[in-house]
Amino acid sequence: EKLSAEEQRLIERRERVLGPAYRLFYERPVHIVRGEGIWLYDAAGRKYLDAYNNVASMGHCHPRVVDAIARQTATLNTHTRYMHEGILEYAEQLVATFPSHLSQVMFTCTGSEANDLAVRIARQFTGGTGIIVTSLAYHGLTGAVAEFSPSLGEFVNLGPHVRTVRAPDAYRVSPEEAKTRFGQDVQAAIDDLERHGIKPAMLIVDTIFSSDGVVPDPKGFLKPAVDAIREAGGLFVADEVQPGFGRTGETMWGFQRHGVAPDIVTLGKPMANGYPMAGVVLRPEIVAEFGAKARYFNTFGGNPVAAAAGMTVLEIIKDERLQENAAEVGRYIMDGFKDLARDFECIGDVRGSGLFIGIELVSDRQRKTPDASKTSGLVNGLRERGVLISASGPFGNVLKVRPPLVFSRANADQLLEASRDTLANL
Ligand code: PMP
Repeated sequence: EKLSAEEQRLIERRERVLGPAYRLFYERPVHIVRGEGIWLYDAAGRKYLDAYNNVASMGHCHPRVVDAIARQTATLNTHTRYMHEGILEYAEQLVATFPSHLSQVMFTCTGSEANDLAVRIARQFTGGTGIIVTSLAYHGLTGAVAEFSPSLGEFVNLGPHVRTVRAPDAYRVSPEEAKTRFGQDVQAAIDDLERHGIKPAMLIVDTIFSSDGVVPDPKGFLKPAVDAIREAGGLFVADEVQPGFGRTGETMWGFQRHGVAPDIVTLGKPMANGYPMAGVVLRPEIVAEFGAKARYFNTFGGNPVAAAAGMTVLEIIKDERLQENAAEVGRYIMDGFKDLARDFECIGDVRGSGLFIGIELVSDRQRKTPDASKTSGLVNGLRERGVLISASGPFGNVLKVRPPLVFSRANADQLLEASRDTLANL
């Protein structure tokens, strides 16, 4: 299908006024005008199944979130330098979902800001500057955070204090090797920093390794790496912007799957189901001196509207049993793709936890040769069949299934049938 004249005009307008740095999804971009639950509707009224959005985790335009935002907006919306119960009630409920040592929270508006604050605090506390990340990590867009977001590509230089380690690839090496390798790689990065006279401040990982291609297994592989960074005087920071808030099914937070205890956790994306809200949860002793010396003020972060939206999200996760749904429907989707793999040689690996699933496409199962072009064919074919999704990973060959947590078995059937039909026609 070709672009309509109207679509062509919109694309040109975007380029003219938004400039050259923005990217649209799809060879034929989608023009969405409305969302409801798991569905997105385009300008022509066509309905799409959303299998990708991890911000609207409660479903698009969840009426309870919309209502909470509307009511609080109509009552009061100001910053955190006046007293207000809303933020306290929310903060108490939020930290109650963490292990008890993580008992304080500071609010920001974006995940990038949360990671920016985390690195400032980690550096102040440890007296170090070194940062260890995975080789395709994305942690955000501020100047400081872009320096440790290698997925931004060659144009954005890594900081001289940054070292990268491979995310363990349990598909290409044995699970045992993947497990020991990660700890060894982090130790080697620590040694290299120290050899350059740089004291480590933190190891930061997205605990589901989204931009590294979704790396859930083997469970527990983080432990030796966390021990190593602590041993070297650095902190362990869990970036839960993607895996957090129940998405990985088994646990509320991705780090819990690995049985490790972070010093700092950063949050964002689904935290207020689309209202800009993010934050840093930490051990009080880490921020004690920082807090005494560096005043923290964030104009919009943690305002009463954000707190109302965030509180409602926590309630919905409980009331609608979304963590359980993620576990159950996630298993169902993985089983479905494993079935498809019997008919389609190109499906090399199906992995995931809850509603965070990676399906790796290969041109040769024996050699495990990544097949990015087939993956992009699948993504575009699904779009033509009314299913929105995307792909990632070092070779661009990992289909990423990451829908709102209200995804049902019927939705999963639609995704699986559309995938079967697309693969059969590629
Ligand atoms: N950390 C991770 C793991 C992310 O995926 C993202 C956003 N894709 C961020 C941090 C940055 O969040 P934001 O876009 O809200 O600044």
